[in-house]
Amino acid sequence: MVDLSKLEPHVFAERLAALGLRRAAFLQDPTTGLTCSHPELAGLGQSLIGNTRDYDRHQAVFLELGEQTNVLLGAFLHRTRRGQGIGGVRLWSYASVGDFLSDGLRLSKGMGRKNALAGLWWGGGKGVIARPPGQRHEDPAYRAQLFRDYGRFITSLRGAYVTAEDVGTTEPDMAEIHAVTRYVVCVPGSVGGSGNPSPATARGVVSAMEGALDHLGVGELRGKVVAMQGIGNVGGFMLAELLERGVAKIIAADVSPNAVRAIRERHPGERVQVSLVAPGDQSILFEPCDVLAPNALGGILNPDTIPRLRAKLVCGAANNQLLDQQRDALLLQQRSITYVPDFVANRMGIVNCANEQYGTIPDDPAITRHFDPSWENSVYRITRSVLERAERAGITSTEAANALADELAEQPHPIFPERTSQIISGLMASGWARATAPAPLRAASGA
Ligand code: NAD
Repeated sequence: MVDLSKLEPHVFAERLAALGLRRAAFLQDPTTGLTCSHPELAGLGQSLIGNTRDYDRHQAVFLELGEQTNVLLGAFLHRTRRGQGIGGVRLWSYASVGDFLSDGLRLSKGMGRKNALAGLWWGGGKGVIARPPGQRHEDPAYRAQLFRDYGRFITSLRGAYVTAEDVGTTEPDMAEIHAVTRYVVCVPGSVGGSGNPSPATARGVVSAMEGALDHLGVGELRGKVVAMQGIGNVGGFMLAELLERGVAKIIAADVSPNAVRAIRERHPGERVQVSLVAPGDQSILFEPCDVLAPNALGGILNPDTIPRLRAKLVCGAANNQLLDQQRDALLLQQRSITYVPDFVANRMGIVNCANEQYGTIPDDPAITRHFDPSWENSVYRITRSVLERAERAGITSTEAANALADELAEQPHPIFPERTSQIISGLMASGWARATAPAPLRAASGA
């Protein structure tokens, strides 16, 4: 029998369509572990459970073949006691269905933890779209079709998952999704969206730095030296926040001549030293400094770089800074380098857009309280809690953040407890997974 998890996503999509299937659901089951909507896909369910690195009793995984494009679409729900799953949708190229599923499981777990630690009344969710082979996704007309397919898929899930922008997707893509569903945030400002999250993200990371410095008993940012990798959207705003707080010096590196020029023009003078570097040049990570802020790439904290770091504290915006969560967190701990887990520091991206449907207010208190150390869920306070817990228990800051997040994720939504479970039960009772492929589906396939 064919191992479906090994198939390329577009081959899997053709196979499903040939079986007359258009949708599939894998649901957490307290007695059997996991139930699968179709016996033909039981093996795939087994491979989900067998993925012990990424599978964590996820509440649900929904798959659909795009109505117009036949592309494999996914929506992944981790814990949803705090509310409906929310998190961005990623458009990415996957070598196999197994890789596609792993990414959705891993990312939705990460979002559940980030949302819970941010005190949001939202659960963990993530969307994944398997990028079709070739460059079709760059054709605007095809792309619009693809994101409308995704929007219709989200509509069919009746609000169990609310989607947003993520790697590989743009604001115009969100506008296409928004044209066919209400369950999307990070939509353009012209239709009531919250706009660029980068200033809030930058301020959140700076709050996390302040919490960590306070925890270390080394005072404020004033007079400190900060090294930054990446001065793009977040890095640029972060630089201004740091200067406002009186840092002694900022050393920054970027691979983009435009980004470097813009910062040099905006901040002439000796306190900011910006270098243009080649893509492989990691030397900024090894500068002597008080705080290192990775604001560009993931995976930069690894056995090659960690022994050479000269910062006491690492706290930045980039996602997935540790190449291997467990191993590299331990390496940092062994070197007595304090690490603020990325999902603790960079929460403001999702915070900025998560509550778009509750309207917008200038200097929205639902946003600004995240920067107020007197609020128990502020970035500052959660950073301190995580670092204190790690120190007390002799564990890494990543383990401490995960443990705190997992506790918070069990808190039920104050108005709609178990709403998402009820939505999922309703979907299954009404035969959501049994919808079959419409006739034009195969004609449009071969994507
Ligand atoms: P961006 O693309 O605007 O900026 C990234 C910058 O890093 C660019 O200027 C790029 O030239 C530079 N860069 C790339 N490779 C580099 C290298 N090898 N060395 C030095 N510089 C390099 O992205 P952004 O919106 O500023 O986001 C930065 C990071 O923060 C990303 O990892 C992103 O996923 C994460 N993040 C962003 C937000 C947000 O609100 N924008 C929220 C949460 C997390």
